[in-house]
Amino acid sequence: MPHDPPVGPAKVWLVGAGPGPADLLTLRAARLIGQAQALLYDALVDDAVVALAPPGCFRLRTGKRSGKTSMTQAVINGLMLKLARRGLSVVRLKGGDPSIFGRVGEEAAFLSGHGIAVEVVPGVTAASAAAAQFGFPLTHRGQARRLLFATARIENGALETEGWDGGADPKTTLALYMAREAAGAVADRLIALGRAPATPAIAVENAGRADARAIRCDLASLGPAIAAAGLGGPVVVVIGEAVRAAAAAGLCAPRSAAG
Ligand code: SAH
Repeated sequence: MPHDPPVGPAKVWLVGAGPGPADLLTLRAARLIGQAQALLYDALVDDAVVALAPPGCFRLRTGKRSGKTSMTQAVINGLMLKLARRGLSVVRLKGGDPSIFGRVGEEAAFLSGHGIAVEVVPGVTAASAAAAQFGFPLTHRGQARRLLFATARIENGALETEGWDGGADPKTTLALYMAREAAGAVADRLIALGRAPATPAIAVENAGRADARAIRCDLASLGPAIAAAGLGGPVVVVIGEAVRAAAAAGLCAPRSAAG
């Protein structure tokens, strides 16, 4: 760990790394990573992005994928505090946008509570990357006037989260995060609440990356379609009429890959 003398007021940047490729970072994020003295990054952050940090930068991966042991939030908070108090330029890198299922509120509150300044840098969220890559919008005039970001978990065999009524509105696009296992149960719930079983849906694995894959189906077949596809990477599910513009049903490849 570097021991440079403090250079200014202690501050931590909570930075969105986007969905993977370094060219989907904001210029601000790339500049801050390029100047970082300490980089704490989540499991979903791509190596290409971490590689932008300067050679002397202290780098630490704070999470592991697929339920393997990760650092606790308390340990991560403590580390950020310690590094910032040493006067280092600390960048906390998170996949996608830090304000969407990124615990940015918890981390910002902790740091502010300890007198550390915090600045958030937005990033491209998984649903936006999926929509761009597979050729559908998230809102569409006349068809999709509302966009709902949601997560869902199965606990004790049942869908944990209540309050799916908004997702039953035919003009809502629903973007589901961390929901590979729960997507089928969410689909059943939405259909029970009156959403049409033929509503288009897509499950996108590794959105934004060159190895992205998508399963295009309808709401009624969402759960079995995801299970049959054996998706191993991060998956974002998007449900709604706006998805109709995406490729025809079945397994599909990105419309185009940025060169
Ligand atoms: N802050 C992130 C979300 C973090 S929660 C964002 O804005 O994208 C982690 C979940 O995000 C994953 O379980 C998955 O549902 C989704 N996700 C993150 N990166 C993804 C990617 N490249 N492709 C598909 N889904 C992704």
